[in-house]
Amino acid sequence: MRVRVKDDVCQGHGMCLLACPELFQLSDEDGHAYLLSEDVPPELEAKVDQAVRGCPEQAIETY
Ligand code: SF4
Repeated sequence: MRVRVKDDVCQGHGMCLLACPELFQLSDEDGHAYLLSEDVPPELEAKVDQAVRGCPEQAIETY
């Protein structure tokens, strides 16, 4: 599984960081989420799914 964040949609709520801090971080500059890795290891897939569902802006996609 791979994941991406649509930077033009992200509003910096930080719910993704709470769901999966192993992959999601918030930028100090614009407050938007960025990824430490776009590759999701199997053990983090459930957490990333939680981040997708929890994002209020639907800014996170997996593929
Ligand atoms: S939860 Fe969604 S809108 Fe909020 S920081 Fe994460 S990706 Fe951006």
